[in-house]
Amino acid sequence: MSGTAQIGVTGLAVMGRNLARNFARNGLTVAVHNRTAAKTRALVEEFGEEGRFVPTESAEEFVAALERPRRLVVMVKAGEPTDAVIQEFAPLLEEGDVIIDGGNAHFEDTRRRERELRERGIHFVGAGVSGGEEGALHGPSIMPGGSAESYESLGPLLEKIAAKAPDGTPCVTHVGPDGAGHFVKMVHNGIEYADMQLIAEAYHLLRTVAGYSPAKIAKTFRGWNTGRLDSYLIEITAEVLAHEDAATGKPFVDVVQDRAEQKGTGRWTVQIALDLGVPVSGIAEAVFARSLSGHAELREASGALAGPVPEPLDEKAAEAFAAQVEQALYASKIVSYTQGFHQIRAGSEQYEWGVDLGSVAAIWRAGCIIRAAFLDRIRAAFDAEPDLVSLLSDKRFGEEIGAAQEDWRAVVVAATRQGVPVPGFSAALAYYDALRAERLPAALTQGQRDFFGAHTYRRVDREGSFHTLWGGDR
Ligand code: NAP
Repeated sequence: MSGTAQIGVTGLAVMGRNLARNFARNGLTVAVHNRTAAKTRALVEEFGEEGRFVPTESAEEFVAALERPRRLVVMVKAGEPTDAVIQEFAPLLEEGDVIIDGGNAHFEDTRRRERELRERGIHFVGAGVSGGEEGALHGPSIMPGGSAESYESLGPLLEKIAAKAPDGTPCVTHVGPDGAGHFVKMVHNGIEYADMQLIAEAYHLLRTVAGYSPAKIAKTFRGWNTGRLDSYLIEITAEVLAHEDAATGKPFVDVVQDRAEQKGTGRWTVQIALDLGVPVSGIAEAVFARSLSGHAELREASGALAGPVPEPLDEKAAEAFAAQVEQALYASKIVSYTQGFHQIRAGSEQYEWGVDLGSVAAIWRAGCIIRAAFLDRIRAAFDAEPDLVSLLSDKRFGEEIGAAQEDWRAVVVAATRQGVPVPGFSAALAYYDALRAERLPAALTQGQRDFFGAHTYRRVDREGSFHTLWGGDR
């Protein structure tokens, strides 16, 4: 027997509840379920008038409420809870039914779950969902993996609730098989870490070197947000900087402890990048910057170390410096995205997913946390040349970063002179210069490796691998 609900959502915390409401507001009949039934009742009581909900209390009732092929979205805590829910529902499903995991799963878990369920004839779609709770309600960016067949029945429903890019296209696409969707969501979050770190460095420089107040920096960021840096993260940064603490009247940023936390997707991005051998130095620096900020004991123990104290510039020089910081931020941002897209390409090759990089850029244009005007140009670059080795080899991005590089260097030099840490800006610049370098010192590294470990080396003038009989007693 099958029911009438076109989609079901189980797990009705902030994300699941808002996704369910989004489906209902878009005219779908939505079966809803939560381990603790009170949440299901609360949803229907509070928002029942927004659309057609079918509240259910047991797994059997939930499954029976769905039309076939059944499509059920699991929106529970990532990790063991997701496995527990799959164990509970899978025996009640039939061939062709689709389970969608919208949580922040590790893509290797998604690969395992997909494989196990495929053997039972059930489609498993690991779908990255970005945009936080607001996005879930008003339109997230959705990155579904799984079989192409499952996307045929699922895609049209996801297109209804996804964010719409400025050209009206829904921000959802079939990213690729099994764990491709969660992999791409993971890298999205890694880029998000890098973007946030770079913006934080720009703020730090404007505060300490330019001597700007948080309110003035908010104004500066609002100005930047009307240009090529136009993005959600710059927009909300201006809001945060303009915010005053109600209790003290001080700038909000001055009453918050300077220790950044993390949930783990940035760390996963770096761990997987290490496994794949992809240099994502900007993302790694962002993850490490958060870790470092949390080590209060290191900072307390090192407070007496020698170094310059930044001396704010006069007004005119500060204005010129702020313009240079904008260049450094934009150039470093291009590098972060270059590294992130490189990682997606490497993952896609490793797991044979066939991910289309232009489509990934396209679905990040709205709904997600890293949405930014310049993603449209990244999309255009990959659409024009799908095999583009690096975003930096795109003519337009190459020219832009080339035009920014002098100011970028000046900012890194100023930061170094004044003792302001800019791990994101400087790692990005080092990556840029490494790509430009005619010869890297890696030749020397090879010599050292051959010396102590007989690891051999390759020559520039002959094929094959070589080993030198290094002299001396060792
Ligand atoms: P959450 O706090 O991660 O999870 C709470 C939900 O999980 C509740 O519905 C809870 O049910 C259910 N749950 C926990 N353990 C369970 C178990 N063993 N069996 C059945 N249900 C169980 O909720 P969330 O913040 O809405 O996030 C949901 C998912 O979306 C997570 O994977 C999260 O990483 C991902 N995500 C979150 C955001 C965000 O901004 N919050 C953004 C993107 C993705 P009870 O009510 O019965 O406890």
